[in-house]
Amino acid sequence: MSAIDDLLKLLDRIPLWKKLNALPDRVDELEKRIAILESASKEPSEFLDLGMCLLKRNPTGGYFNTPLCPSCKKPLSDFFPGKLNCGSCSVVLDSMAVMAAVKKALAS
Ligand SMILES: [Zn+2]
Repeated sequence: MSAIDDLLKLLDRIPLWKKLNALPDRVDELEKRIAILESASKEPSEFLDLGMCLLKRNPTGGYFNTPLCPSCKKPLSDFFPGKLNCGSCSVVLDSMAVMAAVKKALAS
């Protein structure tokens, strides 16, 4: 075994040296992830988050006025008087508050 091999073996015992050796691959991986995140953030969101519910973007402009479940994005229905609920995930919301939020969002 040469002196250089011995030296490299010795360097491999140093944690910082191991990290330095892994850096080029790590940087490549992070650059790919950043590129994916940047391209995703440039697209306008398909949904407008009103906090309690969502509205879907209308391709012709603005948003549809049907409030959607904040969890599964399905339309909320008025199963109980004064309440809107999601049949899929049991989200129950006050219909007056939801309609006020929708009206306010659509007006702005
Ligand atoms: Zn739901």
